[in-house]
Amino acid sequence: YYNENTIVYLNGKYVKASEAKVDLYGQTMHYGLGVFEGIRSYHTVHGNTKIFKAVEHYDRLRNSAEALNMPYNWHTVDLIDATYEVLRQNNLQDAYIRPLVYGPANMSFNLNSESNIVIEVWEMGKFLGDKLLRVLASPFQRPNPGGFKIEAKACGHYVNSILASQDAKAKGYDEALLTDMHGFVAEGPGANMFYEKDGKLYTPALGHILPGITRATVIELCDELNIAVEEKTFTVDELKQADAAFFCGTAAEVIGWESLDKVKFPLDWNNSLGKVLQQAYKDRVTERSLAPERLDGLGKGL
Ligand code: PMP
Repeated sequence: YYNENTIVYLNGKYVKASEAKVDLYGQTMHYGLGVFEGIRSYHTVHGNTKIFKAVEHYDRLRNSAEALNMPYNWHTVDLIDATYEVLRQNNLQDAYIRPLVYGPANMSFNLNSESNIVIEVWEMGKFLGDKLLRVLASPFQRPNPGGFKIEAKACGHYVNSILASQDAKAKGYDEALLTDMHGFVAEGPGANMFYEKDGKLYTPALGHILPGITRATVIELCDELNIAVEEKTFTVDELKQADAAFFCGTAAEVIGWESLDKVKFPLDWNNSLGKVLQQAYKDRVTERSLAPERLDGLGKGL
């Protein structure tokens, strides 16, 4: 992720990652009370570097911090400028961007009066690879929204993601699919999901899942491409009757599934709506196709 020359943005300064210090006595490290984002930048067809949906990601970071009562005193526009500067200083174009908001020294459960922010960037290939995935319906459920702010991208929620992902891999699968506390399909450890049935797409409704920015992009693309899509509640058994399915997320992008619990999906991925959306997503992030509301070329890029 980093070497001795890597630069991070830390509380308004550009510093070497190897020289930056974090406090060992805080709520983020000890209790998981922190929030973060996962963002990507792309080398576009126009030859510049653009952060995809930067505003949406930094707005979600603010919402996540507010959901956890963490002070958040930064402006989205300034953080986007800082992110481009970190990319420039690290000479990165196609990059993964990880802002993290963490607490100061405080081992109590009391509110903090300030927070820290670090923005790290590194090169990352496909998070879940290129191959169709063999997915396991996980014995782990997503956190109960009655006990957690599930709409926040909170550090501590990822204990659940790691448990589910490691369990699936230990059992010989590529990735886990988690249900919600009622047993309805929710999401992957780090991605949302869609399935195709009879020419239409379905995705779990909001409430028990992270409101994914890629999920929203896929829904926008469906609208542009006249693909029918519905948000609804469904079980793992219903999902096993699907024609095809895919995960989507900033890191994963759009990646198809081969099977769920060894039940193979009958539709050839190359003939699926997921494949169409995989290409449309790639064209959108690299600006081969611009979103209708962005035809003015919003955002300057590097
Ligand atoms: N669900 C979870 C649990 C995630 O960690 C992610 C990745 N941030 C997603 C869904 C997908 O969200 P996005 O499309 O905003 O990256």
